[in-house]
Amino acid sequence: MTDSEPEPTLCEGLAIYPGSFDPITNGHVELIFRGLEVFDRLVVAVAHNPRKQTLFTTDERAEMIRQALPERKGLEVDSFEGLLVDYARARGAHVILRGLRAVADFEYELQMANMNKKLCPGVETLFMMTGERYFFLSSQSVREVATFGGPLDGLVPETVAEALRRKLGHD
Ligand code: ADP
Repeated sequence: MTDSEPEPTLCEGLAIYPGSFDPITNGHVELIFRGLEVFDRLVVAVAHNPRKQTLFTTDERAEMIRQALPERKGLEVDSFEGLLVDYARARGAHVILRGLRAVADFEYELQMANMNKKLCPGVETLFMMTGERYFFLSSQSVREVATFGGPLDGLVPETVAEALRRKLGHD
């Protein structure tokens, strides 16, 4: 291998990292970079669910993710509506990537992974443990801090902090 060749990833093929990303946090960003170490193609997929109230629209959430991440071969930001497994199938992905934080995530994630497996046995859910720095970081806690004008340093990318201040009228 020459110096100019990129390091090979562990797995060929496409993985999907789905979520609400309302908004994307540094915990998500770290997981995306770690995902790219393992999979050569990763789609960050923003869930559009009209029944779930979100602070940012689907387009805003996707745009914030694009701004927060560097352009990188194999990395894509998209959005989807409907069943995640249908989206995974349509994209030809065999892996759904999810992050696990404290034990509180476990039951919900187990249920979802089992249901998705039932709906589509060809798609496997893989979990990565959160880096310890981001163990207690969630989009919800970020929204709460932002609502009261608290500091967001180190919690979200700067562009996201700006978007939160604009949205919540703290700029
Ligand atoms: P949801 O799809 O439940 O709305 P989120 O958009 O909050 O989830 O998060 C998407 C994925 O990222 C989930 O797998 C979640 O566990 C994971 N995640 C959320 N916060 C972090 C974090 N701080 N570190 C690593 N992974 C995270």
